[in-house]
Amino acid sequence: MDPSSSAKHQGMEDSGVIESYKKSFSDSRRQYANEQLLKQRAFYARNKALEHLDKYLLDFEGHLNKNQGKILWAPTAEAGRQELLASARVSGKVITHQHRLLEEMGLLADKPAGWDFLDKDYYTYSEKNEVFPDWRKSRKPGTEARSLLPGEEDCAVLFPEFYISENGFVVLAANDPLIQQCLAGCGKVIFVLGLEQLCISMADSELLLSLQSVYKYGIADHSQYIYTSGSLLTREQRSSKEIQVLILDNGRTDLLAEIPQRQALYCIHCGACTQNSNRFSLDKGKFTGVINAIKAPWLGGFGKYSGLGFEFPLSGRASLRCPVNINLKNLVLENRRQAIERKSPSRSDHLAWMTWKTAMMNRRWLNKGAGMKNFTLKSFFRKQWGESREFPKIRDRSFNEWWIQTRGKNEI
Ligand code: SF4
Repeated sequence: MDPSSSAKHQGMEDSGVIESYKKSFSDSRRQYANEQLLKQRAFYARNKALEHLDKYLLDFEGHLNKNQGKILWAPTAEAGRQELLASARVSGKVITHQHRLLEEMGLLADKPAGWDFLDKDYYTYSEKNEVFPDWRKSRKPGTEARSLLPGEEDCAVLFPEFYISENGFVVLAANDPLIQQCLAGCGKVIFVLGLEQLCISMADSELLLSLQSVYKYGIADHSQYIYTSGSLLTREQRSSKEIQVLILDNGRTDLLAEIPQRQALYCIHCGACTQNSNRFSLDKGKFTGVINAIKAPWLGGFGKYSGLGFEFPLSGRASLRCPVNINLKNLVLENRRQAIERKSPSRSDHLAWMTWKTAMMNRRWLNKGAGMKNFTLKSFFRKQWGESREFPKIRDRSFNEWWIQTRGKNEI
C-alpha cells in the first residue's frame, strides 16, 4: 500500500476517534453539578496522599501483608526491571499488556522472550498511549478479540490505576475481559505501580476514578473497575494464588521533594492535557504529552530531557482541562528555570544563544539581508518548531533601516 494513502487513512481514523471521544466527553461531563469543586477536592486528595506518603505506604504494606500479598520496592528503573523479570520467572507464560511503566523500565524497547502482550494487535504504546487511551477503540481493522485460558502455572503482570492504603487493595480498569481472565486464572499476579499512584481511602479512589473515567474514556459510568487485594483468605488458610505489588520509585521521591514541581505527581494519567495541548494540535500527537515532558527531567535526568520544557507553548490551554487542577503552565515555566539554573540546555542551545547575542549586539549583523537570517533561524529551530508549522519570516528591512528610510537619519 502507498505509505501516503495509509497515513491519510490513519489520519482520518484518528480524527474519527477524537471526534467521538469529544462528543462522549462533553455528554458525560453533564453529570457534575459543580465540576470545579470536584477538581479542587481531587487536588486536595492527591496533595494529602503525597504529603504523608511515608505513613500511607506503611499502612498499605501492612494491609497487603495481612491479605497474604507481598510488596516489592524498586528504587530505580533498572532495579524494577530486574525485580520484575526475576519475579515473573514461572513455568508457564507471562501475560501482560503495553504500559508506560514497562516503557520506563525498558521492557517495551527490549521485550522479554516468552512474554505475551495482550495488545500486540493494537497500536503501539508510544504512538497512542494517553492520546487515545481507550485502546479498544483503536483496534486494527480485521483483528479479532483473543480468548485466553490462563492456568496456575502462568503469571499476569497488570497495571492498576491506584493502590489504597486504608485496606491494601489495588484498583484496575477492567475495560478488557482478558484482564479479568488473567486475574481469575493465573497462579501468580504481579501488580506494577508508580510510587505516586496512592489513594488514602476508597472514597478518594471513587472520586478520582469518576474523573478519570470521564476525562480518559469519555464515559460517565465508572463501574468498570475492579478492586482486588491479596488472596483474601483468612490468615490460617494458605492461598493458592501468589500476589505481589511492585512499586517503582525511579526519581519520584526526588520530584516529591521539589515544590511546586511535585504537583506533577498528582497526575491521574487521563491524557486530557495531551489531547488539549496546542502542541498536540500542531504536531498531531507525534510528541510526548506536556505532563510527561514535565516529569521526564526528574525521572530521566536533566541532562537528557531539560530541553523538553522549551518545546511547549505557555498558552495554559492544557492546564484548564486537567481534572486534578495541576497548574501545568506554571510547572513548565519552573522546569525551564531549573534547566537554566543547572546550565543543562544542550550544546547546540548554548551555541544558538551565543550567536544570537553576538548578532543582536552588532548593528552590521542586524542589518544583514533577511535571506541569511531566515536560513540561520530556521536551521537552528527546525526540530523544536516541528514540520506542521510555517517558520515566521523576517522582513527584508530591519527596523533601523526602515526608520532611516522613512524618517531620515537626523531623527535617530
Ligand atoms: S496532568 Fe492532568 S490532564 Fe494531564 S494526564 Fe495528568 S491528570 Fe490528566
